[in-house]
Amino acid sequence: DGGDGGRGGDIIFEVDENVNTLFEFKNKYNFIATSGEEGGKKKCHGKDGEDLIIKVPNGTIIRDTNTNKIIYDMTGKNTKITLLKGGKGGLGNMHFATSSMQAPRYAKPGGEAKELYITLELKVLADVGLVGFPNVGKSSLVNAILNQERVIVSNVSGTTRDSINSYFNYHDQQFVIIDTAGIRKKSKVDYGVEAFAVDRAISSIKEADVALLVIDSTEGLTDQDKKIAQIIEESGCGIILALNKWDLVKGVQTQKFQQEIESDAPFLSYAEKLFVSAKTGHNLDKLFKEAKRI
Ligand code: GDP
Ligand code: MG
Repeated sequence: DGGDGGRGGDIIFEVDENVNTLFEFKNKYNFIATSGEEGGKKKCHGKDGEDLIIKVPNGTIIRDTNTNKIIYDMTGKNTKITLLKGGKGGLGNMHFATSSMQAPRYAKPGGEAKELYITLELKVLADVGLVGFPNVGKSSLVNAILNQERVIVSNVSGTTRDSINSYFNYHDQQFVIIDTAGIRKKSKVDYGVEAFAVDRAISSIKEADVALLVIDSTEGLTDQDKKIAQIIEESGCGIILALNKWDLVKGVQTQKFQQEIESDAPFLSYAEKLFVSAKTGHNLDKLFKEAKRI
């Protein structure tokens, strides 16, 4: 009398507060739960496969890669879903025994292994997004207000091609820092990786209520800054322009600087503009108060 085969393991996704990024999944494509074991003789039930639990950050969106449809939005502290249910174990020949056929010779095979291609993306759950190119001073601004070296400051530009968001809280508001390194002129990029970074940066901006667009005053408003500003504008997100490193700018009046920006990017005329310095602390209180007001 043959026993039934074991059930295949489930693939489960679970929000874990200790996981903050999707970095771990960058190059990981295969999640495999173990399959159930074969049923044994003498009605012995095969061992069930083990479940595979995958821990993701709060706010992870799971999409079907083929259709791009959202399968599940992993938002909320204890969110847990079974993405793929393990296949049912095969039925051993015991189940097919009838009174006229006591030792049947056939068994029903178990379900085939299920396969699904998914894409994980992280939704920005913050109220305010601090966006801008690497090296404009986003991390420094954050450190200056938090008064501690919590956020890594680096003067190596372009180290984070894919924006890995860092989060922090300030006066009951959630902030996220987004490097927008991926937004460049299309002709110059090697498409695969960059396209991904662009998408990420753009969707990050769209999710926030207010964007603090940080620019480096010594560089002025670059074409890339303009492009990001436009994306923010179009997404209906509030925008504040933080003109950082103002301590380094000599002999230029704020008014003149402001006028130049406005003639260059008229759609930014109504945006609040603040001249700030992460180094001297100039106007930082205003900057973060303003973010709260919008
Ligand atoms: P991020 O890539 O936008 O996070 O930029 P960082 O905060 O890492 O800063 C890049 C470099 O600019 C670092 O060397 C900082 O010390 C410097 N920096 C940032 N803000 C200011 C500022 O207001 N004034 C001056 N003089 N330097 C700054
Ligand atoms: Mg930084």
